[in-house]
Amino acid sequence: MDHKMSRSPWVIHYDGSSCNGCDIEVLASLTPLFDAERFGVVNTGNPKHADIFLVTGSVNAQNLPVVRQIYNQMLEPKCVVACGICACSGGVFRDAYNVIGGVDRAIPVDVYAPGCAIRPETVIDAIVEACGILDQKETVLRAGGDPLTVGGAATWDGGVELGEDGFVAAGAGTDGAGDAPAGKPAAPAAGDAPVETPAAAKEAE
Ligand code: SF4
Repeated sequence: MDHKMSRSPWVIHYDGSSCNGCDIEVLASLTPLFDAERFGVVNTGNPKHADIFLVTGSVNAQNLPVVRQIYNQMLEPKCVVACGICACSGGVFRDAYNVIGGVDRAIPVDVYAPGCAIRPETVIDAIVEACGILDQKETVLRAGGDPLTVGGAATWDGGVELGEDGFVAAGAGTDGAGDAPAGKPAAPAAGDAPVETPAAAKEAE
């Protein structure tokens, strides 16, 4: 019998730094109205049971390690879907001081599913596309190959690494998002002289 994991993909959902619009649409796609379950999709809270990782919202210094940890706990073969434009690129929050960028700044993304908010139909379409990639990865894995040579991981640039201070160094592997926007100071580094504020200057007078 020909077993295919994609016939019954289990998904796990994580909401990053979002407005919750995409978050609720992903949940809607799993409920009876849109009924992703008719394709065999099962929602799980355990990364070790999940085949497809649905991520909504952008990545920041707080949630980047969480996204990476969930991904690393998932077993191969696995797929990642960036749900909504914030997850794809940072969206309207891209230039915010605390936003590093889309999900691919943390982990390799296999399917980019835009929308603001993403529609449940798009979520289901993205899951179906991810199933196709899951099949390819499974075939490679069963043949003794490396599933990371298929899908988003094959061309991933490695994303960003956070320094010990929890900040992203300006320009360190980012696509520009996450750097201090022009006119705003970069995060202070250890050993920097204290920043002089108007209040401190007044006190010194
Ligand atoms: S893409 Fe739009 S709806 Fe989705 S999290 Fe971002 S701002 Fe909210």
